[in-house]
Amino acid sequence: MDVVMEITGTDIWYYYICKRELWLMMHKIIPDQEDENVEIGRFITDYYSDRGKKEVDIGSGKIDRIKKVGDRLIVQEIKKSSRFKKSSYFQLLFYLYQLNKMGITATGELLFSEEKTKETVELTGSNVYELEEAIEDITKYAKLSIPPPPKKIKYCNKCAYREYCWAGED
Ligand code: SF4
Repeated sequence: MDVVMEITGTDIWYYYICKRELWLMMHKIIPDQEDENVEIGRFITDYYSDRGKKEVDIGSGKIDRIKKVGDRLIVQEIKKSSRFKKSSYFQLLFYLYQLNKMGITATGELLFSEEKTKETVELTGSNVYELEEAIEDITKYAKLSIPPPPKKIKYCNKCAYREYCWAGED
C-alpha cells in the first residue's frame, strides 16, 4: 500500500513510542477499540476524529491551546501524565516547527494534568535537527510495504495492537 500523507503531530508522537505502531496507524489499520486497557486510546481517537476540544488546526495537527502573554505566543499541549514525555515533547516541538515555517514564533508549554507540572519547549538547533531526522525517518517508515517487526517494549501490554502483535505469546 502506498501511503501519501502529510506527517502529523500524532505521527511524531507514535514515532517515539513504537515504529510498528506508527506504521499501523499511518496505514489506518484500526486497532481493537474495545480493548479496555488502551491507555493511549486518546491518541487513536485523535487520529480518526476530532476531540471536541478547543483546538487550533495548523494543517498537520491540532494544537490544544494557544495563548498570548504580552507579545509572546504560547502553544500549550495538555497531556494526562508525563509517561510518554519524549513523544509529547517532540509532538509539541513539531507544532512549533510548523508554526515557525509559517513565520510564527511561539514557545511551547507541555502541561501534565495529573502531576500538575509544566515544561517549556523551545526550538533550538539541536532539537530541530533531531526533529528533522525523525520526520525523514517517518517518511521512510510510511513507505514500507509491511510493518516493522514487533519489538517487546513496556508499553505493549497497554497497546491496542497487542493481540495483533503478540497473539499466542505471553
Ligand atoms: S503491541 Fe508493542 S510492538 Fe505492537 S504496536 Fe503496540 S507497542 Fe508496538
